[in-house]
Amino acid sequence: MTSPVVEVSHLRKTYPAAKRGGTPKTAVADVSFQVARGEIFGILGPNGAGKTTTVECLAGLRRSDGGTVRVLGQDPQADPLLIREHVGVQLQEAALHDKITVAEALDVFGSFYSERADPAELLDLLDLTAHRHQQFGKLSGGQKQRLSIALALVGKPQVAILDELTTGLDPAARRATWELVERVRDSGVTVLLVTHFMDEAERLCDRLVVIDGGRVVAEGTPSALIEGLEGDRGVRLRFADDGARERATQLLAALAERDADVTAAVPIGDEIEVTGTRKVLFAVVQELAAADVVPDDVRTLERTLEDVFVQVTGREYRVEENEEVAA
Ligand code: ADP
Repeated sequence: MTSPVVEVSHLRKTYPAAKRGGTPKTAVADVSFQVARGEIFGILGPNGAGKTTTVECLAGLRRSDGGTVRVLGQDPQADPLLIREHVGVQLQEAALHDKITVAEALDVFGSFYSERADPAELLDLLDLTAHRHQQFGKLSGGQKQRLSIALALVGKPQVAILDELTTGLDPAARRATWELVERVRDSGVTVLLVTHFMDEAERLCDRLVVIDGGRVVAEGTPSALIEGLEGDRGVRLRFADDGARERATQLLAALAERDADVTAAVPIGDEIEVTGTRKVLFAVVQELAAADVVPDDVRTLERTLEDVFVQVTGREYRVEENEEVAA
């Protein structure tokens, strides 16, 4: 990696106890990662995992208790103004007056920076040109999110931090937002994406860290993390008629007995599920083809970042999990 844009090393942050006699809360216990220029880097984990605290420390908005943070080679604690010039932060909920228009908001926020993005280009990038004279209070959820991204980019940052940007959006608006984030990256901005959505991270991030209980539990590209999963892969087969299914059940059960790449073949409803190594699909297709038993439908069972989370933590992925632990 050429010199990283963001470098976090053994970051630690403990919040003081809320009440006298209460216990302090370690939000970030030990977090390290590096972000390369021009990538969408994900910080993924359940609520309360320490994601926001981590990015607040690297945006110079919070003081850490330990470890080092470098953004564009600088320490955000030592030089918060420089960081503010070059790091755009998207607020979790844009706190704008209902009556302010899109264009006015860009103008006001732009006035905080010495260098500013061209508002027309920004409106175009975020599909807001048609809404530029609309008041904030009259925008849809998706439009408000797009405006919050535009505001994070108005100072021409090199790094943009986007925190939970698709929470509360419908599926179509989420997909549209993902495309916009890719456009932002393609325009040359390094994106740090904070999310508790596994599917979002898998779809959007070039690389990511999974954080749980204030610690990094996995790191890599989504595909490498999923490829690295241990355990069986699965294939589901469906047949047009009962005769073919029964014949296939016998063939595949026998295959599981003699072929080390096939662990088991079990009927599930009107389908057969076969599990085994990465060669399982190959073995199943060969066996059925040789006997001329043709399935109607074959699908491989999807493996996702959720499976990665289960493997590294030993728990199901529940979005609220860390909050419950904290309470
Ligand atoms: P995430 O962004 O992953 O949801 P946060 O960094 O917001 O996680 O929070 C991590 C933990 O720190 C949570 O248990 C949260 O309740 C606690 N926390 C966050 N902010 C504060 C604060 N200002 N004071 C005390 N505890 C906090």
